[in-house]
Amino acid sequence: MKSYVYFRFRIAFLYNAGRYATGTAHPITAPKIRGIESLINPLTALLGLFSHDVGIDLGTANTLVMVKGRGIVIDEPSVVAIDRQTKKILAIGAEAKRMVGRTPANIVAIRPLRDGVISDFEVTERMLQYFIRSVHERFGFGIPRPRVVVGIPSGVTEVEKRAVHDAALNAGARAAFLIEEPMAAAIGAGLPIMEPNGCMIVDIGGGTTEVAVIALGGVVVSTSIRTAGDEMDQEIMAYARQVHNMLIGERTAEEIKMEAGSAYPLDEEGTVEIRGRDLATGLPKSVEVSTVEIRDALSGSINAVIDAVRSTIEVTPPELVADLMYRGIALAGGGAMLRGLDRRLAQETRFPVYVAEDPLLCVVKGTGEVLEEAKMLQKVQSALATRKPPR
Ligand code: ADP
Ligand code: MG
Repeated sequence: MKSYVYFRFRIAFLYNAGRYATGTAHPITAPKIRGIESLINPLTALLGLFSHDVGIDLGTANTLVMVKGRGIVIDEPSVVAIDRQTKKILAIGAEAKRMVGRTPANIVAIRPLRDGVISDFEVTERMLQYFIRSVHERFGFGIPRPRVVVGIPSGVTEVEKRAVHDAALNAGARAAFLIEEPMAAAIGAGLPIMEPNGCMIVDIGGGTTEVAVIALGGVVVSTSIRTAGDEMDQEIMAYARQVHNMLIGERTAEEIKMEAGSAYPLDEEGTVEIRGRDLATGLPKSVEVSTVEIRDALSGSINAVIDAVRSTIEVTPPELVADLMYRGIALAGGGAMLRGLDRRLAQETRFPVYVAEDPLLCVVKGTGEVLEEAKMLQKVQSALATRKPPR
């Protein structure tokens, strides 16, 4: 607590230093602030030598935190459970996710970043602070002043970026940097983003699918749609309701998707049992459905993802398209693990398509790598500030 007060005291100038870092500072004041942190305050610079820098993937479905030299230390759902009356936070992360759909009337389990936009500033801030602080408690050794790189969905506005940035500082960060998720995902997927040859990343998360072509450390073209894993779950719920006249929960739908969902005919089609409530009688009901039906149910969101990729390719400069033919398209995010999605995309686009190693970890790994390389941090950030907003 003592250290917390101390941080608040120091926030004023850190705030400005950080603002420059996120590309949000006023252009006239910015150059004066560059590098000033270590000049004015040798202590801050010194702390940097000992603190464990932190990379965070603030995803719509999952938040992951990686500490330099320690690897991934937090991997939890981006869910917060709140008491409706007192507004008190009851649980964050996995514990809160277990409450989704099961909460009594006075408790709500919310996902503050659900659609790739921050629907609730305060809750997002509290969640981020909770994660940063739990890292401090475990690894801080009394020196709780890390530099923090946060990967955020590319749909968030400047105001929302500021909110995330300030939340990181309020949680005790020495400096906070924001990087857009497709860039972080590309780095984490091992794509050579600094080279002149183009590469393409498709990050299919919970709330958003982000498609980006990257070359020379900058995003050349990008598309962000609000169709991804959540929408697939909704489609399975709609299928159960319309075809089998039964009600199933979001979590059940997600489990069915992971177990039996696909985007391309499987070598061996099977069946899966869906359990829910009969809408006519109100009684429990279970039906056996084939993986072919589940695939049909998912076709709307799969087609939306395919369209996003195709329309991004259409506006990619021809030289870079030639590079993509050779390099292929990398898939990241949890949605990349939907069976057959790579084959389906390859068939529809005629590009080679592959799933990156550990698709759920690409963004957080990318933030970690950016922390290691000051040059890369500078480059990907300025690219963030100057590029056009996603279509
Ligand atoms: P975000 O970055 O938005 O937090 P993630 O990259 O963590 O999202 O991906 C979460 C999404 O991936 C969820 O919608 C989840 O259901 C989906 N997902 C995870 N594993 C699988 C799988 N094996 N098959 C299909 N979808 C999956
Ligand atoms: Mg993500």
